[in-house]
Order: sequence, then C-alpha cells, then structure tokens
Amino acid sequence: MADKTLFQRIESGEIPSDIIYEDEHCFAFRDINPQAPTHVLVVPRKPIATLNDLVDEDAALVGQLFLAAKQIAADEGLDDGYRTVFNCGEKAGQTVFHIHLHLLGGRRLGWPPG
Ligand code: 5GP
Repeated sequence: MADKTLFQRIESGEIPSDIIYEDEHCFAFRDINPQAPTHVLVVPRKPIATLNDLVDEDAALVGQLFLAAKQIAADEGLDDGYRTVFNCGEKAGQTVFHIHLHLLGGRRLGWPPG
C-alpha cells in the first residue's frame, strides 16, 4: 500500500489540525501558514496527486470541493468575496501532492497573484 499523504495523516488525526468541515467526499482545515485572515484547505478524501492526475470519474468530486468551499465561505462570513486556488505542479507552488483547494478571504486580494 502506498504511503499516506500528509493530508491523509491530517484526515486520520495522526497530524493535529483544525478540521472545520467534513462530508463524505472531502474535509477542510485551516492552513498552518495562512496567507489571509481566512485560509482553509479543502481536500478530497481520494488522494489524487495533482490536477493532471484527474480522470473523468473525478469530475463530480471536483465539483463537491467547490460546493464545500462555498459552504465554508458562508460559515466564515466571507460575504464580500473570497478566492479559490488549486496550485498544480512545483512551478505553480504546489508543495503537497494531494490536491487541495485553497480558500482565501478576509482581506482585499491582489490580482494578478504572485
Ligand atoms: P500548496 O503549496 O501545495 O498549494 O499548499 C500546501 C499548503 O499546505 C500550504 O499552504 C501549507 O502551508 C499547508 N500545510 C503544509 N503542511 C501543513 C500541515 O501540517 N498542517 C496544515 N494545517 N497545513 C499545512
């Protein structure tokens, strides 16, 4: 069996985290190094390494991540806007190879991103 990803170790509680949302498809917790007042990672229970590893059967799962992000944004009171980001690959800043949707809000966010 493949080694667990960092985020699977968070999911199991092996690594402590602040899990704020869970459903059958995904779970979400606060980023350890927040880049905004609200910075949450929404992670599928299925350990897909990068967006490039998605297959057709994952289409609904990706939609579930965005629905979860929408719910969390409402719960966090991000009524005036927020951003969702997937980093794909090392050059885009991906450091954990288990896909995750960043949810950022609580401050004005610049564009273009760095
Ligand atoms: P990436 O750089 O892959 O797009 O995002 C990975 C994110 O995971 C980073 O924002 C990083 O701060 C966060 N992260 C890395 N290790 C941990 C951890 O042990 N706990 C939590 N809560 N976040 C982590």
